[in-house]
Amino acid sequence: MTEQDQEWALETLAVRTGHRRTAEQEHSEPIFATSSFVFASAAEAAARFSGESAGNIYSRFTNPTVRAFEERLAAMEGGECCVATASGMSAILSTCMGLLQQGDHIVSSRSVFGSTTMLFNKYLQRFGITTDYAALADVDDWRRKIRPNTRMLFLETPSNPLTELGDIRALADLAHAHDCVLVVDNCFCSPALQRPLDLGADIVVHSATKYLDGQGRAVGGAVVGDRKRVGEDVFGVLRTAGPTMSPFAAWVFLKGLETLSLRMQAHSANAARLADWLSTQAGVARVHYPGLDSHPQHALAQVQQTLPGGVVSFELDGGREAAWRLIDATRMLSITANLGDAKTTITHPATTTHGRLTPEQRAESGISEGLVRVAAGLEAFDDIRNDLARGLPGR
Ligand SMILES: *Cc1c(COP(=O)(O)O)cnc(C)c1O
Repeated sequence: MTEQDQEWALETLAVRTGHRRTAEQEHSEPIFATSSFVFASAAEAAARFSGESAGNIYSRFTNPTVRAFEERLAAMEGGECCVATASGMSAILSTCMGLLQQGDHIVSSRSVFGSTTMLFNKYLQRFGITTDYAALADVDDWRRKIRPNTRMLFLETPSNPLTELGDIRALADLAHAHDCVLVVDNCFCSPALQRPLDLGADIVVHSATKYLDGQGRAVGGAVVGDRKRVGEDVFGVLRTAGPTMSPFAAWVFLKGLETLSLRMQAHSANAARLADWLSTQAGVARVHYPGLDSHPQHALAQVQQTLPGGVVSFELDGGREAAWRLIDATRMLSITANLGDAKTTITHPATTTHGRLTPEQRAESGISEGLVRVAAGLEAFDDIRNDLARGLPGR
């Protein structure tokens, strides 16, 4: 990044950072669809391979289109360095492989993405890395779960689907007092609404599949942080083990970033109106949305995020039957567990994303049978509301 980039606002960084125009003078960012790069001489090849001179060698290591995406996202998150990955899950895996070793311990918030829990419990465990879970909003619970061998605290905020918040600043202080890194999965807010590194987090991970793309076209991920941890330790895993982002996917995400801020404002505006409207509807017992005064961490949301975000969940009287009825009555909304799309999506967490939990685990996590999650898209608000209204209890 140049010095000028540092002063630009997020919207400008999103459009202008990362692209170095080639001799062809192209305006839009090119896709470098090449697996390898050539050298002017044997000596240059040797210098590249030995690390004496910087430059591209092979697209598992670096690729100019991927680098453009990495530089742009790093700038938007306020990090020194970013590495792009094949998926959000490979971003989390590569972070753990780069920063942890056998015998280390993770404290994670209980309400993280299902595959993240699976990665920690089933796979990392096999390699001698163990995980305990804390209640996201309860800093004392995090403190109690830390052990002498804890090296990483991991969280998502707001949580899925209940939109609980973790206090990033407080958890960063706790992590640093115990020689741990704080890793924040910033998928729900994106840098347009929340910048965890500014609040003291060490590493941000992303599923670029969601809002960074924003139109459901590609799977990808990213890790953002400092030069040592991300640029060397995590990059080393990527370069060796290979869960890298393809240049085609990088191009989709690079262009997605250009509209991220505008889209996040629109997602958030639709979600806020939905939350207000749902709060007035008979048969809706409770609405979970950080923008509502009734949200237990409304005040924290106002300082930690610039807007409340695009995801709303709500509990219907009448349990699963009422929830399924509402979902099945929609004609426009997409019934899918994905989120971060221009198209509004609706899902029943208890039987999909959280279906593998035991009933006790679901109860502990607050995932009731009547809970419905909506990720507000970019359609006109009235059309989203009318589609949801069809199946509300009593209609
Ligand atoms: C989707 C998601 C992931 C995993 O990302 P993939 O791109 O599907 O691998 C991780 N964290 C959160 C919060 C997600 O929503």
